[in-house]
Amino acid sequence: MTTAQDIIRPDILAMTSYPVPDATGLIKLDAMENPHTLPADLAERLGAHLAGVALNRYPAPRPAELLAKLKRAMHVPAACDVLLGNGSDELISMMSVACSKPGAKVVAPVPGFVMYEMSAKFAHLEFIGVPLKADFTLDADAMIAAIDEHAPALVYLAYPNNPTGTLFDDADMERVIAAAKKSLVVIDEAYQPFAEKSWMPRAADFDNVVVMRTVSKLGLAGIRLGYMAGRPSWIMQFDKVRPPYNINVLTQATADFLLDHLDVLDAQASDLRAQRAKLAREVAALPGVIVFPSAGNFLLVRVPDAAVAFETLLTSRVLIKNVSKMHPLLANCVRLTVGTAEENAQMVAALRKLAPN
Ligand SMILES: *Cc1c(COP(=O)(O)O)cnc(C)c1O
Repeated sequence: MTTAQDIIRPDILAMTSYPVPDATGLIKLDAMENPHTLPADLAERLGAHLAGVALNRYPAPRPAELLAKLKRAMHVPAACDVLLGNGSDELISMMSVACSKPGAKVVAPVPGFVMYEMSAKFAHLEFIGVPLKADFTLDADAMIAAIDEHAPALVYLAYPNNPTGTLFDDADMERVIAAAKKSLVVIDEAYQPFAEKSWMPRAADFDNVVVMRTVSKLGLAGIRLGYMAGRPSWIMQFDKVRPPYNINVLTQATADFLLDHLDVLDAQASDLRAQRAKLAREVAALPGVIVFPSAGNFLLVRVPDAAVAFETLLTSRVLIKNVSKMHPLLANCVRLTVGTAEENAQMVAALRKLAPN
């Protein structure tokens, strides 16, 4: 008799599934979700729009009208094509698969977004993490040295970076892009609504750059929609490994509808940017706490003891992310998602309990 132990790859057997903690009854500030829902009248109109969707049909594999609308709304340069993914997670997976020649490698700063490494490993690509500087800025010299040494297929630069929130210096990014002549540099702008800076206008200016985005952090994490803009020569190749019907009809219809109402989501992002500033001030005022500058809808914070902070907040029914074990540079760091004013007030009140009076 055959068992999974006989069939499954040893590295997969040794893994555990991506952990998603149960947040029932908790104030959920662990996953960079937008805490705001749609206004009731807009949700009702969306419902009516979705009622007209043909659930009996497969989705359009390359929905031309939706792609055109997305390009207009997100200011994608005319010279770029756009590829849609079931979240940017799927785009990362598609790129990894398409580049997985024997011996191919991936270079990215660490600590960084864990899916770069996981996707690389799933596709048998070697992952090389290049440590950030202690203040979480990009170590461009170390990145360039790693690129020279390893000639990676893919280089990821998250702009801003997760979990640090750092918006890397543009001149450093340019140096890395120039050094990565034999690589594709993927600029991941998942947090663009909170950064208000973007490489999208330059997405067609380099022959080795694509710009990746998602609607997840903008308030639509539930619909799973990521997109990537780049020169057609890149997009065309990655499209070949896309599962044919990867964006379901409800997601397509929701995106089509909400792209006409981006002002609502933009206003929510604007509120969260203001909340981020307020939260950063309040947390920084707590004794023994360091808040790092963030261009995302989250703050990386160093506390005296990350495990104690996590548990103390949990006792107050606030769920945050303890990232202290992710990388040595993150020692005693936790990541706080920016929530509503009320949620943030509860989080700050819980953090105050940590402070010795
Ligand atoms: C959250 C996040 C994404 C994931 O996006 P999905 O579209 O939800 O799959 C991608 N990149 C970074 C850096 C992120 O933090």
